[in-house]
Amino acid sequence: MVEFIFSLPIVSKDYDPTCMVSYVAGLIQLLNKIDDKRTRDKYETELRVLVQTTLDLVDKGVIKEMIDFGLNNTTDLSSAKFAVNMAYVMVLQKTNSSIDKKILANDTRVAFAVRAGLVEMCLSFVERFGQSRLFSLSRGDENSLFQEIQRTIETVYLISLHKKTAKAIASKRVVIEKELLRLRGRDIPNHSDYDYKDKKLLYLAKSVLDLSGTYCCRCNKSLSKTEVLQCNGCSGMVYCSKSCQKEDWLNGHSLTCNKKLAIDQPGRFQGLYSLRGVQVKDERAASKLKELKNNISMIQLKLFLDKRYEIQSRAHSLGIPLYDCVVVFDLQKCPPSVETKKYTSAYDASTSKHFEETRSKDNITCIYHSPHFNGESGTQFVPNISMQRLFPHEWLSGNRVIRHTDGSYTIKK
Ligand SMILES: [Zn+2]
Ligand SMILES: [Zn+2]
Repeated sequence: MVEFIFSLPIVSKDYDPTCMVSYVAGLIQLLNKIDDKRTRDKYETELRVLVQTTLDLVDKGVIKEMIDFGLNNTTDLSSAKFAVNMAYVMVLQKTNSSIDKKILANDTRVAFAVRAGLVEMCLSFVERFGQSRLFSLSRGDENSLFQEIQRTIETVYLISLHKKTAKAIASKRVVIEKELLRLRGRDIPNHSDYDYKDKKLLYLAKSVLDLSGTYCCRCNKSLSKTEVLQCNGCSGMVYCSKSCQKEDWLNGHSLTCNKKLAIDQPGRFQGLYSLRGVQVKDERAASKLKELKNNISMIQLKLFLDKRYEIQSRAHSLGIPLYDCVVVFDLQKCPPSVETKKYTSAYDASTSKHFEETRSKDNITCIYHSPHFNGESGTQFVPNISMQRLFPHEWLSGNRVIRHTDGSYTIKK
């Protein structure tokens, strides 16, 4: 293999013959300059083999080269597919594990790819090729461009609650929002299902934005970095002001701040609920878990408000009062799924009994299941963390909810 590799010409100025990473970067630069289809195919195959067999050959520079290539030099659908596929493989974590690689995207790599324009690249392909017949055509074990983009956006989504990717998305939010608005506003004829496919991808990209952002855990106000006030006790809850913090403390957070779940108080619980398959072995894993909890706390109220009509109508059709409902959000699905159940089907028998005894009749209970990647974990389950939050009924009925022109909500104090 080594002989074959070094028989290819190198064009990178920075090429260092002892460094395979610069060789890979050079190979991508070379692709930019070749018009001849057969030669190009040859280099594409070479690159694919190199990257797939050894992720060590991928660094920031390589990811950036790949996405630049996708943004500027893709001439046809097949090279677009190649660019997305390569970018996807490049953001995966080095692993020998047998778990589905999709869940082992690496926060640092994804964050870098997002900053380099991964989401914009995907959206530009949706725009350019979304109406093509070939867009959703897969052959043999080869994915269609639609499938490649879907898998890539879902991967970004799944890791977007982690610190680095969350920050990268925040830095790109305005650009991506603008792009989505422009693409949704386009005249898309709606007589074939290809249209549905490209709309679906826009919807997935929007879910990535929905899962990120810094919001007050009490009133849902969007916060800039300087406005963030953390709870001193657990640092897991974030507020816009002292008054929001105080209100949240008095309405349940005091019961749970920095405490383990008391099994006999399921109806009073706000905060971390359980860790399944997650082992916090060292400081690094602990700090990762803390970041994750923090980011999830900030979007819980937002997700709840986004889904409030759905929750109300489901409770209505179940014919049960809101305090008997448990709303389960699964953030492992893209977009997040939401299910409103009676508490007896959300909890086991003994927890149900405790729930009856400890719940407040003014609140509705929500449980959020979220993926967890960076803690050491077993291989049998996809590890996840579950958090529970209680929100006053009146927030659901909208008495104190203000809707803004951009479609967001805040809670009036
Ligand atoms: Zn607030
Ligand atoms: Zn706290």
